[in-house]
Amino acid sequence: MQADIESILLDESTLLARLDDMAAAITRDYVGKDLTVIAILNGSFIFVADLLRRIPLPLQVDCLSVASYHGSRSTGTIHFRQTNLPAVAGRHVLILDDILDSGLTLHSIVEKFQSAPGALSVKTCVLLDKKVSRAKEVSADYVGFEIANQFVVGYGLDFMERYRNLPYIGVLKPEAIERTTALATPQFSED
Ligand code: IMP
Ligand code: MG
Repeated sequence: MQADIESILLDESTLLARLDDMAAAITRDYVGKDLTVIAILNGSFIFVADLLRRIPLPLQVDCLSVASYHGSRSTGTIHFRQTNLPAVAGRHVLILDDILDSGLTLHSIVEKFQSAPGALSVKTCVLLDKKVSRAKEVSADYVGFEIANQFVVGYGLDFMERYRNLPYIGVLKPEAIERTTALATPQFSED
């Protein structure tokens, strides 16, 4: 798996040091408030696990499973795997996702929570923010790293469901992309 990586963009210690800062900011902003964090699966699971263990607040955690990507391209359609949103009446909502790309995913999730009954506030937090022209006007309230417009894997992010378990964020070699693409049959991939 490591041999498929062309370059490491963000190594583990860089990622974790940034998470310390993000967790401190979130802790400061939500102290004394009833907070529910919503993890967008699958891509955010490692980020969320590392971030939340740095936030010493009595928060609640819920997960939403959505899919939009096929390989290294967004399909443009967001598919929600559950019909009911977590109940957030009387609570502040912080949505956690791995990466902000076209913005379609975060935009449709934020919209759902903003129209959910009784949410006190809805904010967003992403580990990576890709500098691209967005299909949707959306920005994240907390951002770990701004990155160039390139496809990255690792630390939860996948290419065709592979590479999520790399401990860092890296760029794939073109031959690894070709090999993986040739192996796979068309399908929805988990975000
Ligand atoms: P958006 O809806 O285009 O903003 O895409 C958001 C989702 O697409 C993320 O939650 C990721 O799952 C996936 N995604 C976007 N860019 C990348 C990437 O560079 N590597 C892996 N997954 C990505
Ligand atoms: Mg994905």
